Amino acid sequence: AKETGKNRIVFYNTPMNAEIIERAIIEKHLRNALDNKEFELHYQPQLDIKSGKISGFEALLRWNNPELGPVSPLKFIGIAEATHMIVPIGEWVLRQSCKFLRDIEKMGFQGLSIAVNISMIQLLNEDFAHMVIDIIEEAGLNPRQVELEITESILMESYEVIAGKLKLLRARGVKIALDDFGKGYSSLNYLKSLPITTLKIDKSFIDTISNGNKDKSLTDLIVKIGRSMDLCVVAEGVETQEQMDYLVKHKCHRIQGYLFSRPVQQSEIVRKLNEQYYN
Ligand code: C2E
Ligand code: CA
Ligand code: CA
Ligand code: CA
Repeated sequence: AKETGKNRIVFYNTPMNAEIIERAIIEKHLRNALDNKEFELHYQPQLDIKSGKISGFEALLRWNNPELGPVSPLKFIGIAEATHMIVPIGEWVLRQSCKFLRDIEKMGFQGLSIAVNISMIQLLNEDFAHMVIDIIEEAGLNPRQVELEITESILMESYEVIAGKLKLLRARGVKIALDDFGKGYSSLNYLKSLPITTLKIDKSFIDTISNGNKDKSLTDLIVKIGRSMDLCVVAEGVETQEQMDYLVKHKCHRIQGYLFSRPVQQSEIVRKLNEQYYN
């Protein structure tokens, strides 16, 4: 038993090493991804319940590497953050997102908004606020059309510094969404003290809305909290009609999820907007 014990240590280490090696490989390929134009953005429409129309989109990063194939953001964003590569990548995402919305506007679809995920590393960067303002101006958008999605985990660290930057951006008109709301804690404090305009209810809450379980879901409470604070409440990860009905009934403002649309390419968004416009 003793000698197998020693062997086992080696054995248990193997999967961990495999993970380290995988991360190293991803990191290596990630270094050239921006220059090699391997990134692409997909856009997931948000449905405004009141108008029944698309009100905006969330930009979601896609990476297709010639050797690795498609890599999920869940895998590479963490590595991009740890290596600070997320700073140039995030800047590219914002620029590309603003260009996308401007293109859509030029086609005659006005007043839509674009939501962009922002990581803590970006927010801590010295010129973050100026970078955002410059890119929005460069694209010729109204800052009110741009929404930055931040998560609660971001806010735990360097609260004062981050709050200052968010207030500056908000003063210019940029909107701030609290992403994955309900997943972390002390959320209510953040809602009060930060210039938040939008609440994105985490998918795990939406998942609790099922036919047999509607009364037990806390989602209506979150919608009420958001509405009482004059926030725009967005439900994400909406997959079923039951969830949709519940959210409509409880006066959620916007819906985002596979039920309405998966994240898709720009050309598909244009097709959807045309379809909506001519119907
Ligand atoms: P997130 O910001 O919470 O984005 C929502 C995720 O849920 C996306 O996964 C989206 O494709 C997925 N989703 C949307 N509707 C549904 C649904 O009805 N059902 C299910 N099961 N999933 C749905 P994705 O694109 O894989 O992105 C994962 C995460 O990676 C994002 O979570 C975000 O945290 C991060 N991420 C993606 N793009 C960027 C980016 O440009 N910058 C940064 N910093 N993070 C990003
Ligand atoms: Ca998001
Ligand atoms: Ca989210
Ligand atoms: Ca998330």
